[in-house]
Amino acid sequence: MKSERLHINEIFYSIQGESTHAGRPCVFVRLTGCNLRCKWCDTEYAFYDGRRMSIAEVAEIVVNYRCDLVEVTGGEPLLQEGVYPLMGTLLDTGKTVMIETSGASDVSKLDARIIKIMDLKCPGSGECERNLWSNLEHLGARDEIKLVIADRADYEWARDTIRARELAARVNAVLLSPVHGQLDPALLAAWILEDRLPARMQLQMHKQIWGADTRGV
Ligand code: SF4
Repeated sequence: MKSERLHINEIFYSIQGESTHAGRPCVFVRLTGCNLRCKWCDTEYAFYDGRRMSIAEVAEIVVNYRCDLVEVTGGEPLLQEGVYPLMGTLLDTGKTVMIETSGASDVSKLDARIIKIMDLKCPGSGECERNLWSNLEHLGARDEIKLVIADRADYEWARDTIRARELAARVNAVLLSPVHGQLDPALLAAWILEDRLPARMQLQMHKQIWGADTRGV
């Protein structure tokens, strides 16, 4: 029995709303705490709220949902050391494990079986300086890079970064999301098409289904 405890914000079962896995039933384990403060953050409730749980408790709740796909998210899940044994336990139960991380924390120690969905922060987030570029060397064919776009300046930064760092060749998908309620998705779509950008546009499916302010979905 592993003894590490984790600060957990919420655990819930829903439809995966993002990535190439969008639409799949998924269990979400949201860890408390983040070292960034993106201007458009939609999970500020995860900065502090939560409770201490053992890895065994978390794993039991996840397993009881009887769902093959699990996403570990936050906040920033890599800030807690216990996330590593938690993900190891979940992998050992046969789950497909994804992690969503800000791109500011080192991903090199993650088990190769974990699907990494890694953000690159654009200037409009206010946290662009925190991108840990060495992380790109630790991404592979199953992983995905996500860029959240607030405006035209963000788009141009994303476009130039995708091209200069050949992001599409590194990962399964490069995902571009408009900031919900801030950037018209039709504009972003037009920019991607005009530039023939090797990227995959996405909208947050859970917000389309349940609305932007509903928690636990
Ligand atoms: S990294 Fe994620 S959780 Fe942290 S402030 Fe940015 S959007 Fe919010």
